Amino acid sequence: MSRIRFESHVEKAGFFSPLAGMQFAEQTIEVRRDPLTKMTAVASSELATKEEMFFGTTDWEHAEELARRSREGCFFCPEKVYDVTPRYPDELVDGGRIEHRRALVFPNLFPLAGVHAVVCYPEKHFLRPSGFVPDLLEEGLGAALDFVRRAERYYGHLVHIEVCCNSMLPAGASMVHPHFQVFGGENVPWLVELGWQRSAEWQAENGLSYWRALVEKEIELDQRYVHGEAGVHWLVPFAPTGGREVIAVLPNVDRLSRVEDDHVRAFARGMSKVLAWYEAERLSAFNFTLFGGPVRGREPGFPVVLRIVARSAFKPDYRTDDYFLQKQLGGDLIFVSPERMATELRARFAT
Ligand SMILES: [Zn+2]
Repeated sequence: MSRIRFESHVEKAGFFSPLAGMQFAEQTIEVRRDPLTKMTAVASSELATKEEMFFGTTDWEHAEELARRSREGCFFCPEKVYDVTPRYPDELVDGGRIEHRRALVFPNLFPLAGVHAVVCYPEKHFLRPSGFVPDLLEEGLGAALDFVRRAERYYGHLVHIEVCCNSMLPAGASMVHPHFQVFGGENVPWLVELGWQRSAEWQAENGLSYWRALVEKEIELDQRYVHGEAGVHWLVPFAPTGGREVIAVLPNVDRLSRVEDDHVRAFARGMSKVLAWYEAERLSAFNFTLFGGPVRGREPGFPVVLRIVARSAFKPDYRTDDYFLQKQLGGDLIFVSPERMATELRARFAT
């Protein structure tokens, strides 16, 4: 029996409003809490119509212009990438860089962790979200996970490792050229630690994995569950941590190094659906992270989980979607209800 609780509370904000002819009016604010982390996500009766104001609409001409301008001299394009990017020692990666079909893996020149690799597609200088088609994502994720397996064997002190992505400027990408990152080391980032700790506590209290229970509960409720394939379950979280967040859970696999080819295919296919949907919604920038449980045995209960969020749309005067609420108070806004998002995504995943 699942003990997952989807907690939601309502607050009212009342004032004499110009929107109501200066009569007293109240707006309803719904605060949702993530069942595991207790993070809050806020929806208001007025926000539903404001997503475009907050996130903007992509100016593709401007994006294509930036792609053109940055093409010459790009470090990740084929003329430069083999000459100017760093290499790993042969004992870790024979030849210094992994070439996995169209994807290439090499060290980040300015690492932020003991293990910090870049995965790029040299031949693809610029991609719209819909350009991340399943076979391309499969090759990129496959290359990243090949590196994860080598890193786990090579670095004896590795405790955590993730595959992450910033795509386009509003998502924090410094390069226009699409790339992923593999990020790992001994010092566990606090949100990763929080996820591991809460999952372990939940499992100890309830006798089963939170994530397995979540998938079962979402399938049973049929409100936010989107699709299941090869053991990978796609759903929209009850309390999203970012714009149009979608997650995928692989409950039977606890470490990134144990993700198999058919899982990679399912992740790639699902991600391509989500990204094409972002573009159809006139968004362009996104982040994703593929999390796993601890590399070395402790804290059971956290499996492989993918989180993907849309960011402010790319345009000349785009505005960040990360302000005091997200950056300092820790929470996010809900513009489109997770339940409506799931309905839209189910139709896309069915094709
Ligand atoms: Zn390039």
